[in-house]
Amino acid sequence: MIRASVVPAVVLGMSLGLAGCGGGGADGGGSPSPGTAGSINSSAGAGSVNGSTQTGNGNAGSKPGSGDAAGSVQNGTGSTGSTGGTGGTGGTGGTGGTGGTGGTGSTGSTGGTGGTGNTGNTGSTGGTGSTGSTGSTGSTGTTPDANCVDISRCLNFTSVKVARYKDNKEAAASYTFDDGYRTSAAIATLFEKAGTRVTFYIIPGLVASTDWAMWQDLNRRGHEISNHSMTHPDFVATPMTDQMLDTEIVQSQRLIEQKVGVRPLSFAFPYHLSTTRAMALAQQSHMAVRKMDIGEAGYRFAFFDTEHGTDLAGTLRTVNRQLDEAVQLGGWFVAGGHGIDGDGWSPVTTDFLQKHLAHAATYAPRLWTDTFANVARYRLCRDSVMPEAQVLTSNKASVRLAGSFNAATCTAPLTVTLPVTAMKEGCKLRARGADGTELPVVIQGSVAYFNAKPGDTVSIELVPVVK
Ligand SMILES: [Zn+2]
Repeated sequence: MIRASVVPAVVLGMSLGLAGCGGGGADGGGSPSPGTAGSINSSAGAGSVNGSTQTGNGNAGSKPGSGDAAGSVQNGTGSTGSTGGTGGTGGTGGTGGTGGTGGTGSTGSTGGTGGTGNTGNTGSTGGTGSTGSTGSTGSTGTTPDANCVDISRCLNFTSVKVARYKDNKEAAASYTFDDGYRTSAAIATLFEKAGTRVTFYIIPGLVASTDWAMWQDLNRRGHEISNHSMTHPDFVATPMTDQMLDTEIVQSQRLIEQKVGVRPLSFAFPYHLSTTRAMALAQQSHMAVRKMDIGEAGYRFAFFDTEHGTDLAGTLRTVNRQLDEAVQLGGWFVAGGHGIDGDGWSPVTTDFLQKHLAHAATYAPRLWTDTFANVARYRLCRDSVMPEAQVLTSNKASVRLAGSFNAATCTAPLTVTLPVTAMKEGCKLRARGADGTELPVVIQGSVAYFNAKPGDTVSIELVPVVK
């Protein structure tokens, strides 16, 4: 949902005097906040602008624009930068006469802060007013940031979006390793050298998978330690009571949480086998469940083993091709492996992982690599957060990450993008979160983006580049 900014009539009148993004005259009147003016009725019947009562302009207590007949132009208010006082009370709009010819918008000079306007009264129905003529070009402002105005021409606020993947990447990749083998620590180190973190699906009911000191350490290093069931049963071949399902899925999750200190957010079924009941319970108790297929064209589940191919070289070619396809389709590549270098079920090798990572590195600018849970969360929240943009003044706007998202799940930042239409030389965008923290704004080609958490309101300002 995109909400176009509502620009009050007074502000519109002023902007008549402004040139393009960052050009021309300065904003006449800091940020006048007009009173809830009486509505302008310039339709039907006789009379023109009526009861318009624009109050609270940039001037000190500027005059209420009460029911002016004729001349539908709101003059570009804002004379020289005095601080605006409180706007007067709007008068009652009179009956509209015949609409006159619109006047010329006056030149806006640098204005001060606008005062608060009082509420104007509603005018009576006016007649058709004629169109006002275009205001003249404003003179060059005198303040240092005179160029950095008209933010609405720099960015296309009506096209604000949540990016498909973090940092506006085109595709995502997650690496998962099952069963908790002892070479998990070596795998973690290998991926850390490539600048990323992976997911380990462990089996807390089996002793071989319970080197808790190792899992605690890997968790501290940013890897995901998640749930692969209590005892690794075949959920389809094994008849399961509700209690058994609870033990394998829910109690297993609790045990890992107790031992590692973080609740597992995702679940992976042993052998990729599940029943409807088991799947429902896993989805209810976990944020995400790893699957071989999610019914999405760009999703690729890649087996990092030799059981699904002839040999390691063939497997490497297959998984690299799957990654190529996922990137090209803007999808999600999810690798499923076990141990390495002779450890565990159908292990791959250090060399295999290094060769694959070298291939993946060629996609670095386009590919976001993170744990299964982190990518799953982004995807979930991306689809439920609706950013709303609003232009506030000539150089300020805000973006709110609204929508009906799950606040308990959507705790990580999403990437918000805005098309750049005309960035002015010497100006830059500065974004701040609700708590005032500056959020880096990256301009990538014709798109500007920043990262913010769902629910946050980010203020964006066009400011001069400090040399
Ligand atoms: Zn397994």
